[in-house]
Amino acid sequence: MLFEAISVIPEVYGSYVDASILGRARKKGVFDFEAYDLRTWTHDRHRTVDDAPFGGGQGMLMKPGPIFEAVQAVGAMHEEKPHTIFFSPCGKRFDQAVAKRLSHEKRILFVCGRYEGMDERCYSLADEVLSIGDYVLTGGELASLVVMDAVVRLLPGALGDEMSAQDESFSDGLLEYAQYTRPAEFEGMGVPAVLLSGDHGKVAAWRRQSSLERTAIWRPDLLSGVELTPSEECIVHAVQEREGQDGCTA
Ligand code: SAM
Repeated sequence: MLFEAISVIPEVYGSYVDASILGRARKKGVFDFEAYDLRTWTHDRHRTVDDAPFGGGQGMLMKPGPIFEAVQAVGAMHEEKPHTIFFSPCGKRFDQAVAKRLSHEKRILFVCGRYEGMDERCYSLADEVLSIGDYVLTGGELASLVVMDAVVRLLPGALGDEMSAQDESFSDGLLEYAQYTRPAEFEGMGVPAVLLSGDHGKVAAWRRQSSLERTAIWRPDLLSGVELTPSEECIVHAVQEREGQDGCTA
């Protein structure tokens, strides 16, 4: 898969994209990445990409001219048309389901906003506008890295263990179960005995219960999207009673 980003600070990507799991996956050819400087598509001496908003107000907005030119020029660099993603706190919320859907694209182009955002007409170029959460960042670069990171780890060959992405939080609609590693005793805290038992059936059952309990405590909103057996519903009820949560979502 090819990711591309149009940004006024394209230099911020290198150290993240070339490090650790992403770096190895890129070297292996699982994905590639290219960042472009939006100012390449300006035509004045100051390489201006922003201007004051009509109607007044705080800050500056990104002008449509350079963004339209950049998206069209970068789009034409390869035969495959890119799936073009803009970012805004007003966008659709990015989550694991969106990451999964995007992992089937061949080419994704991120267009990163800065300042107070963009002239509204720019969004007509977007296949979709994403938000990574209900807070305001200074720019779309971090958002594009978040999306790229989440998508890359779903691509075949990106992770050492092909199973590890399947078992994680949100993969079955629940949060991931609690995990432990050596030592079995640390600072007076032990590890659940079942995990040391070598009984795979019991370990799987414990993990399912742990997933349910953690989801019921931290993200009860997720439970409405998960089909539970009657005994799993009991686990959820017990947690909710213990935690003093009213209402039952299971
Ligand atoms: N004035 C805009 C508003 O109130 O909705 C915020 C603009 S923000 C300061 C500048 C840029 O950062 C946005 O154009 C977008 O690209 C990016 N950005 C900020 N928060 C974001 C979020 N939660 N998710 C995705 N991108 C975000």
